[in-house]
Amino acid sequence: MAPPELRYDGQTVVVTGAGGGLGREYAIFFGARGANVVVNDLGGSFKGEGKGSQAADKVVDEIRSKGGKAVANYDSVTDGENIIKTAIDNFGRIDVLINNAGILRDISFKNMKQQDWDLIMAVHVKGAYKCARAAWPYFRKQKYGRLISTASAAGLFGSFGQTNYSAAKLALVGFTETLAKEGFKYNILCNVIAPIAASRMTETVMPPDVLENLKPEWIVPLVAVLTHKSSTETGAIYECGGGHMAKLRWERAKGALLRTDDSLTPGAIALKWNEVNNFKEAEHPQGPGNAMELLETAAQLP
Ligand code: NAD
Repeated sequence: MAPPELRYDGQTVVVTGAGGGLGREYAIFFGARGANVVVNDLGGSFKGEGKGSQAADKVVDEIRSKGGKAVANYDSVTDGENIIKTAIDNFGRIDVLINNAGILRDISFKNMKQQDWDLIMAVHVKGAYKCARAAWPYFRKQKYGRLISTASAAGLFGSFGQTNYSAAKLALVGFTETLAKEGFKYNILCNVIAPIAASRMTETVMPPDVLENLKPEWIVPLVAVLTHKSSTETGAIYECGGGHMAKLRWERAKGALLRTDDSLTPGAIALKWNEVNNFKEAEHPQGPGNAMELLETAAQLP
């Protein structure tokens, strides 16, 4: 049986950083599947220098030339309200927000300048916040919304020379997990992707034969599934690249349980260190409530 063709007719999709790389692929896909697309891009370098309208305009032209509907927006994501306003002014609604815009300021922690830290935090964290904040009232009112945040393996696992970027990317996980909880009863589904794909961001750090197998268009179908009206998935993290996609989750070792009295000493923990770190009978906690249950069990120890 042929797989179904997911469509987005009549919906408005905002893609930030859609002038190139992954964002461009999302925008072109949604434009070809019936959506109205806001193609946002500041048009600067991958280090966040400069700006221009060309990148976004080119993608808009491409969508329109294939019969799709798209408008450009050249604001920085840190002015997210203007980006969402572009959607409302042109199409009267917003259904999907893909927080994708991003830059790099890679440098060892020892040599990092305040500006390298601040700019990365501004574009990734404040930018995602500002766009989501502006879209949220519309999502709530219409009891429908789909939001994607773009994290990175650097944030999930750490990555040499990327303290700023890693911190920002993991911040987006906490941000999105919480939005998923707050949005659930309004049918606002929020998920995180950690992609790996060939783009101007990765072309300087990966060899051409590897990049050949990491086409950015191969990330699009997963995002399409997560943002479709048929999706029920929320608060999830997916790694995706080169045709592979997989959900990630937290794992908690079974751990040690110590009596909460004078016997809870550093030495007592040292004796149970293997238990603290033993993943043989691991659990997969879903939220803070889970840890509270453990604490209650601890309180009942003889
Ligand atoms: P890219 O540089 O090709 O695309 C990023 C786009 O964002 C650019 O077009 C850029 O002009 C735009 N942008 C930058 N700052 C902006 C701002 N302030 N406001 C609006 N637009 C802005 O890189 P990409 O690889 O396509 O990256 C897309 C997203 O995926 C980023 O968030 C990146 O951190 C993330 N990511 C990419 C990879 C990868 O392997 N390519 C891996 C992990 C995460």
